[in-house]
Amino acid sequence: MSEVIGRVLIRCPETGTPVETVFRLRPSAFEALQGEHRFRCTRCGQIHTWNKDDAWLEQAGPKRA
Ligand SMILES: [Zn+2]
Repeated sequence: MSEVIGRVLIRCPETGTPVETVFRLRPSAFEALQGEHRFRCTRCGQIHTWNKDDAWLEQAGPKRA
């Protein structure tokens, strides 16, 4: 099974909705992810700190040209 690069999502603590981080990772790279990461939330505009336990990998959808 080939590895597909997917978007890393977390749940925004302000709005409770899934929001994508800047990370794009293969599953193996996601599993190896360590430490805390920060990004500016596109939902609420605040800076969120997250680690792998907060995040999940979104499977890439159908490719579009
Ligand atoms: Zn947010």
